[in-house]
Amino acid sequence: MFESLSERLGGVFDRLTKQGALSADDVKTAMREVRVALLEADVSLPVARQFIKSVEGKATGAAVTKSVTPGQQVVKIVHDELIKMLAGEEAADALKIDNPPAPILMVGLQGSGKTTTTAKLAKRLKDREGKRVLMASLDTNRPAAMEQLQILGTQIGVDTLPIVKGESAVQIAKRAKQQATLGGYDVYMLDTAGRLHIDEVLMDEVQAVRDVANPRETLLVVDGLTGQDAVNVATEFDEKVGVSGVVLTRMDGDGRGGAALSMRAVTGKPIRFVGLGEKMDALETFEAERIAGRILG
Ligand code: GDP
Repeated sequence: MFESLSERLGGVFDRLTKQGALSADDVKTAMREVRVALLEADVSLPVARQFIKSVEGKATGAAVTKSVTPGQQVVKIVHDELIKMLAGEEAADALKIDNPPAPILMVGLQGSGKTTTTAKLAKRLKDREGKRVLMASLDTNRPAAMEQLQILGTQIGVDTLPIVKGESAVQIAKRAKQQATLGGYDVYMLDTAGRLHIDEVLMDEVQAVRDVANPRETLLVVDGLTGQDAVNVATEFDEKVGVSGVVLTRMDGDGRGGAALSMRAVTGKPIRFVGLGEKMDALETFEAERIAGRILG
């Protein structure tokens, strides 16, 4: 197990003289510990550096009162700064899905949890917001993926677009739009094909689908355990197709949540939801507080 940052900082400050305010030297020593903790939590180095710089400025000279130890004081400053950096401005789950039928484009690499997340989100919109949702799989290369979405749809009571063999992704997107309009659906979700790595064929296809569907939201699904890779994937997808929000999956795993901080800092995109398991209810809105707690340990 990792030693938590709070414990580490406690240790550091026990060795330092306690004064009325945090000195530059105190803060420097503390920042070394913060840096290690961030890197252990899988925050990328440039983001860790940027973060420490902003905390350093705030912590130096900060008052230490009788009620808090210097260590606690630094932890609080780090915590508040983490929240600020993770949360951003937008409300996390404010999906723009007025004006039915609203298209939601789901993009991401194969295995990221895209199909599962599509179904989880459809269920959430149905159960919590009473939306009528239609889901369509555009993964023409993998019939199993199309069937998987259909099976999940049946399981959660959400309609899926009937599978027609031989159609292209763009044709399926058009048919989904048509059916969603005629059928009076509030939302239709397009589960695009994923590949193991980003390649041009994939990006061209996603772009073509985007141009036809004109999505209200384009949600990128990324595996939260892949750390820096997740951030690179997000940067590429955002450049090529434009992303309106991110869903981090597998946040039920061992990861310390650092990918979330890097994701926000590097891409500037809001993390809207986190996947917390394989079950259909294991999707929650992103809460900066919880991730900050996890990074701090
Ligand atoms: P896709 O290829 O991106 O569509 O990925 P899938 O939706 O098929 O998911 C791949 C695997 O990851 C499946 O076994 C899912 O049950 C699992 N999975 C998806 N999201 C999560 C999550 O948040 N936590 C965990 N533990 N497993 C997940």
